[in-house]
Amino acid sequence: MSDPKPLVLVVEDEPQMRTFVRLALSSNGYRVVEAVSGREGLQQAAAHTPDIVLLDLGLPDMDGLEVTRLLREWSAVPVVVISARGQEQQKVEALDAGADDYLTKPFGSGELMARLRVALRHAARSAQDPLTSVVTVGQLRIDLAKRLVFVRDAEVHLTPNEYKLLATLMKHAGMVMTHRQLLEQVWGPGHAHQTQYLRVFMAQLRQKLEENPAHPQYLITEPGVGYRMKGEA
Ligand code: CA
Repeated sequence: MSDPKPLVLVVEDEPQMRTFVRLALSSNGYRVVEAVSGREGLQQAAAHTPDIVLLDLGLPDMDGLEVTRLLREWSAVPVVVISARGQEQQKVEALDAGADDYLTKPFGSGELMARLRVALRHAARSAQDPLTSVVTVGQLRIDLAKRLVFVRDAEVHLTPNEYKLLATLMKHAGMVMTHRQLLEQVWGPGHAHQTQYLRVFMAQLRQKLEENPAHPQYLITEPGVGYRMKGEA
C-alpha cells in the first residue's frame, strides 16, 4: 500500500498516558500529533485533518464531550474517547454527541489498536461505498438491499423492528451503539429513553440469531452504554 500511514490526533493531558499511546501508535506504524487540552485539540484537528482522534474525556480546559460537540460541527473524523472509571455518563453523552467508540482506562495496546482499526475501516467504508448492500459478520449475513438475513446460509425471518435493529448494528459492526442511538434509529426520536424496548427486541434477536442466546457471540451487551455487534478487529 502506498497510502501514507493514518494520522492519529491524541488529545490527552496526562503525560504518562500520552507517552504510552504515542509509543503504541508509532510502533504500529501510525503517525501521531498530540494536544494537551481541548482547545489545542480542536486547533490541531483543524490544522492537521487527522484520520482519527483519540480524545480523553477529562481535560483541563473543557471536557471531551464539549470537544466532541465542537468537532462535530465541522468534521466527521472518527473519534474514540478515552474514559476513566466514574465517567460513565460523560462517555455515553460523548457517544450520543457523535463520538464513535470508547476505551476505558486502563487499556492495553492490543485493545487500542483493535478500536482504531475498526473505526478507521468503518470510516473508509462509509466514505467509499455508502451503498454496500451485503454485510457479513462471522456466520451472520444481512442483505440490506433485499432486507434478508441469513445465519449459516439459512434465511431467518425477522419482524420489521427486529430487522431495523439488526441492520443498524450490522452497519456499525465492531463499534458500540448507545441505547439512545439504537432507539432513535429504530423507533424514532420520541423513544430515546425507552430502553426496555431494546431489551425485549435484543432478546428476540438473540433467540433467532445466536447459537446460545444466554452467551451471545454476536449481539454483545455494553453495560450502561448500549450494544455492539461483534466485528472483525
Ligand atoms: Ca485527563
